Amino acid sequence: MSQILVIGSANADHVMKFEYLPAPGQTLMCREYRLEHGGKGANQAVACARLSQPHSQIDFICHLGQDSVGNDMRQSWIQDGIKSDGITQMAGMGTGTAMIFIGDNGENTIGVAAGANASLLPDDLEQHYALFANAQFLLTQLETPASTVAKALQMAKKLGVTTILNPAPATVLHQDCLKWVDIITPNETEAEALTGVEINHLDDAQLAAQLLHQRGVGIVVITLGSRGAYISSPGFTGLIPALEVQAIDTVAAGDTFNGALVVGLSEGMSIAAAVGFANAASAITATREGAQRAIPYRQEVSNLAPRI
Ligand code: ADP
Repeated sequence: MSQILVIGSANADHVMKFEYLPAPGQTLMCREYRLEHGGKGANQAVACARLSQPHSQIDFICHLGQDSVGNDMRQSWIQDGIKSDGITQMAGMGTGTAMIFIGDNGENTIGVAAGANASLLPDDLEQHYALFANAQFLLTQLETPASTVAKALQMAKKLGVTTILNPAPATVLHQDCLKWVDIITPNETEAEALTGVEINHLDDAQLAAQLLHQRGVGIVVITLGSRGAYISSPGFTGLIPALEVQAIDTVAAGDTFNGALVVGLSEGMSIAAAVGFANAASAITATREGAQRAIPYRQEVSNLAPRI
């Protein structure tokens, strides 16, 4: 049985849509409001749970608040099949919150309160040692404190767990981080933030990948939105094209990609096949509104791409 451990953030996304964004000092009625379950860690854990085979085990280490949205998220993840051992609701804290304002022209402004996410510290990982020891894969991102991400990667690596870092959002990495990373999955912006190389063409992706290899990362997968994803690995180097779909909202597409990639690898797929699977799963997410609710189930991916 394969076991995937995801560590990261969970956020309640309050999304308001406006004809135009309110100016400083202005109060404006929105035309639409919704509350989404989001946060990169949680989105990726949900993607792993929905896309994996029934016999696999998905654990998620995160800190939620002791509030109603925290209760709702926990409940909904358990329904998706995520094991609850790693999920902690912190007394006296609120669940991470993002306030997202979107204008009709697609412009947005976002404010984030880290809430309980900020309290997930390196020492908290020790109590979950058993989850690390049993895992084959660790998937993490950068919405939790950098020292926690570094400690998680180091613990996993020492135990022989394959480590995948989605370096999102683009931010400064803990200096030692990359030496514990087996597979890194930046998008174009994040690849540029990590390497200084602006990604316009595949040559740029290859150059950025080389720089990441030089820093110790074995496999580099750079996601390129509607173009697909570029792989630089010992077994395969090149572009795996995206599926052609009518994209309406790419929120959580990257998170779906990461969850699917790890699920594919956990089932023994080659890196190229796993990226093909991830492209198919994330293309479906891009056709739907919302964060976690947009993430597809395994059967939907099989229906879209029967050969995968
Ligand atoms: P992020 O959402 O993290 O910025 P990308 O935009 O690179 O990451 O998207 C991640 C993956 O989602 C892509 O590699 C691709 O497989 C899929 N994807 C994103 N946008 C589209 C699209 N418009 N059409 C098809 N697939 C898409």
